[in-house]
Amino acid sequence: MPNIASLPGRHSDTGKRMHNFFSSFTKKTASPDLPFSYSIRRSQRAVKVRIVVKPGKVEVVAPPKAVEASIHRFVQAQQQWVIQALAKMAVKTQHQNLAPTRYGQGANIPYQGQFFKMTVKPSRLKRIKIEFFNEFIVHVPETMPIKEQSESIRSALINWIKKQAKTQVGQLITQHAHKNRLYPRSVTIKTQKSRWGSCGIHNDIHINWLLLLAPIEVLEYVVVHELCHIREKNHSRQFWSLVAEHMPEYQQHRRWLKKQGYQLMMGLNIWGCTGQPENIKDMDIE
Ligand SMILES: [Zn+2]
Repeated sequence: MPNIASLPGRHSDTGKRMHNFFSSFTKKTASPDLPFSYSIRRSQRAVKVRIVVKPGKVEVVAPPKAVEASIHRFVQAQQQWVIQALAKMAVKTQHQNLAPTRYGQGANIPYQGQFFKMTVKPSRLKRIKIEFFNEFIVHVPETMPIKEQSESIRSALINWIKKQAKTQVGQLITQHAHKNRLYPRSVTIKTQKSRWGSCGIHNDIHINWLLLLAPIEVLEYVVVHELCHIREKNHSRQFWSLVAEHMPEYQQHRRWLKKQGYQLMMGLNIWGCTGQPENIKDMDIE
């Protein structure tokens, strides 16, 4: 359902305006004082001016007689609302792209930069068991009521991914630590809303398990990034050249994370539908 803001009919004022001739004409407006462009559609049936926000698109539906300057003032006055509505929709759309609506037979599961099919098999086990052989095989207890299955599979899947994160992060650390003697004091897999990784003053490294949904090189980049903070506690030139020593093509993974990071954070609906991350704007890892 698109978001709609209405303006009372007072702006459908009269006069011998040009607009009368353009009753079904759509005009694209890109105004320098607004952070988005919008189109105006004249409709004979419209009695008020309405702003309709669809994913990535703002349309103003106006009665034929509405004056363009007042339409523009209305859009300006509503710009905060429009920006929020656009943002909400972007989240929703991305959200739907990555996370399946149901966790069950045939679902597409994002994992390491790809989607893998999920196959559900009834089992005599007491708990859900997940296996991965180029697809997700989920053994679900026969006794589990159907309506509980999706949510239970989802949480079992998250636990499985967290375990994978621990193993893979461990392997990546082994692979990179010796070269420059970058040994962390501890490594913890975390669920974090606004960070991909961190390295504390005592070299305790935290890595966000949601990175397991990204291509493996992106996870590797974050691990390398945090390991390099063991020597350089900043983002100086020396820091980045140390990163490049371990991963010469790191910039492309960094860019990937900047571009896709939001979608990744929304990955498996872990924040719930209303609890979207708030401080997500600042997505750079620390
Ligand atoms: Zn950093």
